[in-house]
Amino acid sequence: MSEAGKRTTIAGLLGSQERNVDVTVKGWVRTKRGNKNVAFIALNDGTTINNIQVVVDPSAFPEELLKDITTGASLRVEGLLVDSQGSGQPVEVQAKEIEIYGKADPESYPLQKKGHSLEFLREIAHLRPRTNTFGAVLRVRHAMAYAIHKYFNDRGFYYMHTPLITGSDAEGAGAMFEVTTLDMDNLPKTADGKVDHSQDFFGKATNLTVSGQLEAEIGAMALSKVYTFGPTFRAENSNTPRHLAEFWMIEPEMAFFDLVDDMDLAEDFLKYLIKYALDNCMSDLEFLNKMYDNELIDRLKFVVENDFVRLDYTEGIEILKQSGKKFEFPVEWGLDLQSEHERYLVEQHFKKPVILINYPKEIKAFYMKLNDDGKTVRAMDVLFPKIGEIIGGSEREADYDKLVGRMHEIGIKPEDMWWYLELRKFGTAPHSGFGLGFERLVLFVTGMANIRDVIPFPRTPKNAEF
Ligand code: ATP
Ligand code: MN
Repeated sequence: MSEAGKRTTIAGLLGSQERNVDVTVKGWVRTKRGNKNVAFIALNDGTTINNIQVVVDPSAFPEELLKDITTGASLRVEGLLVDSQGSGQPVEVQAKEIEIYGKADPESYPLQKKGHSLEFLREIAHLRPRTNTFGAVLRVRHAMAYAIHKYFNDRGFYYMHTPLITGSDAEGAGAMFEVTTLDMDNLPKTADGKVDHSQDFFGKATNLTVSGQLEAEIGAMALSKVYTFGPTFRAENSNTPRHLAEFWMIEPEMAFFDLVDDMDLAEDFLKYLIKYALDNCMSDLEFLNKMYDNELIDRLKFVVENDFVRLDYTEGIEILKQSGKKFEFPVEWGLDLQSEHERYLVEQHFKKPVILINYPKEIKAFYMKLNDDGKTVRAMDVLFPKIGEIIGGSEREADYDKLVGRMHEIGIKPEDMWWYLELRKFGTAPHSGFGLGFERLVLFVTGMANIRDVIPFPRTPKNAEF
């Protein structure tokens, strides 16, 4: 049998009912302590937040070997799995054989000591997954990705892959990164002095996508229910704890769904994901609850168990105006809500997640369905405690003429979006969708405070080291 085949994961060992059997365990040393008569190694392999305790009789091993077993070193240990003598763990391994795969010099290994700041850990993104915090976050992140696919698959949605490089620049969701192979030091120019993208790789100007929605609509108008789950890019210079320049987004798009169906789906989806985390990630959540956010688990349960408030933007503005609270940004019908306003509604006024609907058309995208009042659109934002906006969505404008009218108002050339308009020309149907920011979800579920700490390699202004 291969070495890998013989290895038992630490998660497996800690859950095992077997005793007095030989096992092979592999992982990285978290701590070593002890005395002349006995040494204890806490070993972690990332399969669980918990370590396995390896008990070593120093007289049975060369002194040289024991000296090199320091925090960060990687080991193979063979030994007997027994009931643990100490408290805190059900089992431990009595070492019979130890092999060091790789040493970690105590003088220079950055994770030698516990309690580094999250800011410092961001500078060592290649090592921070070995900390308890990032191990927990990355496991929860994985569980959420899996649960998203499971949720949609179980409900008849098809996973649709939409392009990351896009030739349509009318999505309007944020500033875009350009994609080009032109020689930056010697740009070809047209007669009127502009960059000549006809000589570019795609024969036109292209960008990294800010959203897969427009293409997902193509899928919905054929397969009924689709979703995307991929990276999106926004070149906005917003240095906030909730924005990344590269983030992952989940965008379901459903034919024959109106705004109420859309809201129902968004609420059910979020509750499912949070419940999935409570059911499957409890040891990680308990750790995060203890270390970072004592209300985390209560908050997650609260969101699962309570209905979201559904409210008109106009009423939301009234509540904010009457709150008597001094906000940094103005509150006025027609202005977009800032995160401070969103959080006031959620955390102080309703004390529940809020779905705000029917926003003024001027502050929402051109593709949202116009209400009969001619002033507002069938938009919905789901607002969460500590996060603010976690989902943005809408019923889409399905009427050809109204959509063209909106494009003219906003200054989008209909011919640039001919294919999008043809969806309204041939077999148009009511349809709706939304976008969930994956990292905002992971922020909420882990209770972490900064979005840079819930993605392995954050991309933010002036930061793309790893
Ligand atoms: P915000 O107002 O918070 O900047 P937005 O209205 O620009 O967000 P949408 O275009 O509606 O965002 O995108 C859908 C979802 O994607 C948002 O609800 C949010 O969860 C997430 N999101 C948007 N921008 C970012 C970003 N820069 N980093 C991480 N997540 C984001
Ligand atoms: Mn939005």
